[in-house]
Amino acid sequence: MLNIVLFGPPGAGKGTQSERIIEKYGLVHLSTGDIFRYNLKEGTELGKLAKSYMDKGQLVPDEVTINMLNESVEKNPAAKGFIFDGFPRTKAQAAALDNFLESKSVDVTAMIALDVPEEELKDRLKKRALASGRTDDANPAIINNRISVYKNETAPVKDFYQVQGKFHSINGLGSIDEITTRIFTVIDSL
Ligand code: AMP
Repeated sequence: MLNIVLFGPPGAGKGTQSERIIEKYGLVHLSTGDIFRYNLKEGTELGKLAKSYMDKGQLVPDEVTINMLNESVEKNPAAKGFIFDGFPRTKAQAAALDNFLESKSVDVTAMIALDVPEEELKDRLKKRALASGRTDDANPAIINNRISVYKNETAPVKDFYQVQGKFHSINGLGSIDEITTRIFTVIDSL
């Protein structure tokens, strides 16, 4: 099984690149942000709970997020592998993912981190807000909060995979095609 954690701050291009990776390698794309937004649109209890955190640019609590992710994996028993996009975002989530996959006798193959400078992220998020209508992309205070949550809580997740020898960082600047090529080079070397 090929299980890739696609990592990076908000606006790094995880969603865009995930689409290309699933196409080439036949993986299932699991984006926790997308699943929360779907629940929000459908007005589920989970969506209502998630909204209170998303609207502030905060993380949804680990327990809720981990359960949701595990259920999404369970819904795809025939998957050749997964792209985890926007998950894990805390060390507790990373440990939970390891335990869950281990219970299925599989593991995370690699984390691929997209490295993008902060000014570029803010620029991209502003542009994305116009196209996607995402309110958390349109508000500078929420963007700043998401970036600081990333620095404080999410960036340390790199260490979790680094000690396992699974961490790969790539330059996230350039054309979408150039970045895709860099990601494919890493995956093909695994
Ligand atoms: P994203 O689409 O990945 O930018 O996620 C949008 C929002 O969903 C985040 O700002 C969080 O509020 C929430 N979210 C997404 N993934 C996670 C996660 N792994 N843990 C906690 N909250 C999450």
